Amino acid sequence: MTGRLAIVGLGPGAAELITPLAAETLASATDLIGYAPYLARVPERAGQRRYGSDNREELVRARQALGLAVSGKFVAVVSSGDPGVFAMASAVFEAMETGNSSWKDIEVTVVPGVSAMLVAAARVGAPLGHDFCVISLSDNLKPWHLVLRRLEAAAAGDFVIVLYNPSSNARPWQLGDALRLIARHRASATPVIFAHAVSQKDERIDITTLRDADPVNADMRTLIIIGSSATRLVICGKDRRIVYTPRHAELVEP
Ligand code: SAH
Repeated sequence: MTGRLAIVGLGPGAAELITPLAAETLASATDLIGYAPYLARVPERAGQRRYGSDNREELVRARQALGLAVSGKFVAVVSSGDPGVFAMASAVFEAMETGNSSWKDIEVTVVPGVSAMLVAAARVGAPLGHDFCVISLSDNLKPWHLVLRRLEAAAAGDFVIVLYNPSSNARPWQLGDALRLIARHRASATPVIFAHAVSQKDERIDITTLRDADPVNADMRTLIIIGSSATRLVICGKDRRIVYTPRHAELVEP
């Protein structure tokens, strides 16, 4: 009896940013698995089982989910933002590829969610309006030299750059290095956005520049958007600030 598994994106925090399809899928699952604080965002339902876990155990959690699904359950694995962006969907597919062969028969679906960068961008205007790339600064799962190589290429390519996982207690210096690297390619007045806890009650959005960007202002619940050479900061009225990247771009020599 092979069951089903859905990997469901919960959006960045606020209930209204959970899609109707995600809500429907969560309501029909028999079992929910995920990082405990994310599970806490899902309304309780009688008869539904919940398995909360630590954030670092992605593959363990993925295997547990597949094991439950293969026994006939409808399992929902919850993820923040979009489950395919630095999140559980890849872990589930990796566990499926490398695990028990019966797991390949499970019907797995990915239910997209609103990634935090989309809401952060919406708060300030349209900084992602042209070519952009997204880099995780975490070197838990990849060597720091690879992060540097990708940052260098993104900076030289004049992409708007979104940084996920910019900083944590265990990784205090990486963001400073990353910003210095990017500053070698970009004007010091380039707009930079620090978006903390987007759509949650302690949301804080700071618009600054590459010159003034202070790594101290980032933590695990922050993402950072660094403009390209085309990204504009516009002051409207007295003090309303809008950041956008135009729909057209010019060739800027690195
Ligand atoms: N799948 C998630 C990303 C998970 S990686 C998504 O699509 O949004 C975890 C990183 O995402 C955090 O370190 C932070 O950089 C970013 N992030 C997640 N939720 C956030 C929020 N509400 N506000 C700001 N950044 C957030």
